[in-house]
Amino acid sequence: MPARILDGTLIRDQIYAELAQEIAALRSSGIRPGLAAVLVGNDPASQIYVRSKIAACQQLGLGNIHLTPSANTTTAELLAIVRELNARDDVDGILVQLPLPPQIDAKIILEAVDPAKDVDGFHPMNIGKLVEGRPNLVACTPLGVMEILRRSGIPIESANAVVVGRSNIVGKPMALLLMQANATVAVCHSKTRDPRKFTREADILVAATGRPALIVPDDVKPGATVIDVGVTRITDPQQAEKIFAHSPERLEKFRKNGSAVAGDVHPDVAQVAGALTPVPGGVGPLTIAMLMSNTVKAARLRRGLRAESAASPR
Ligand code: NAP
Repeated sequence: MPARILDGTLIRDQIYAELAQEIAALRSSGIRPGLAAVLVGNDPASQIYVRSKIAACQQLGLGNIHLTPSANTTTAELLAIVRELNARDDVDGILVQLPLPPQIDAKIILEAVDPAKDVDGFHPMNIGKLVEGRPNLVACTPLGVMEILRRSGIPIESANAVVVGRSNIVGKPMALLLMQANATVAVCHSKTRDPRKFTREADILVAATGRPALIVPDDVKPGATVIDVGVTRITDPQQAEKIFAHSPERLEKFRKNGSAVAGDVHPDVAQVAGALTPVPGGVGPLTIAMLMSNTVKAARLRRGLRAESAASPR
């Protein structure tokens, strides 16, 4: 039986409905949570991401500020912008879109963001809190994966979870969140010897590598829940034919458009897995939803209100 498809768009809409209620309640008590997005330069992909984040704020009634300093901004200039946003009372969340131009020291900038406004969860203080098992503001993509698992009724406690990928923004916080939820966690990376030995043991397998179709059916335990974080645009027809060999509609679309988005999980894994997130439409929609949720959470925490609500989880 093919895997149950875990539809991220439906879960995102459910979270948005809860957040809209929560934001309306906050606004009726005079609090309007606000997000400031800083986009340095004109990278087209980053422009699309930031526009979608601002659009989500507008849809939900969150305050929003969109700053677009030029591509030749210096570290000192960007630092001044971040400090100004740190000081503004109408700003609860600050997001500095990555990647930053090469002349800017990203580490200095990310560490300058007030940890209480660090809605991307990238500040070392927030990462440290997550390591300690006291999560505060946590990176949006792994947080979104947890929402998919929880809202889809996938048991996490005592599950064997394997995360493939160990980046600071996805793999590491993902492993920590799963451990925090009492899964037994293993992390694989590019130097792992025989990764299949680990992945085949996984009740929950999260792939976050950016390697299209890396995870094939033989890597997966029958019935496992497979979460595909990877998003890669492929343009090579041979690669597309290999990946979409049994997905005629997607191959057709690739031929029409000359490119397609592929996840880290081969589509044939749907024949083995018990549940699977699609790409696109799986984890992706949750990332912005959790950014909105973190902004609301930051607004509550800054005002000494209860941190958790249905849509702003721990
Ligand atoms: P990254 O910083 O490039 O990290 C990739 C990780 O994968 C590294 O830890 C690397 O290992 C590991 N890896 C690479 N090849 C491997 C292999 N053959 N076997 C096992 N591990 C391997 O990427 P990232 O920022 O974490 O993003 C990963 C993917 O998620 C990308 O496709 C990205 O576009 C996507 N993403 C999606 C969202 C979303 O909203 N849906 C958000 C963020 C990222 P080493 O550490 O040993 O090099």
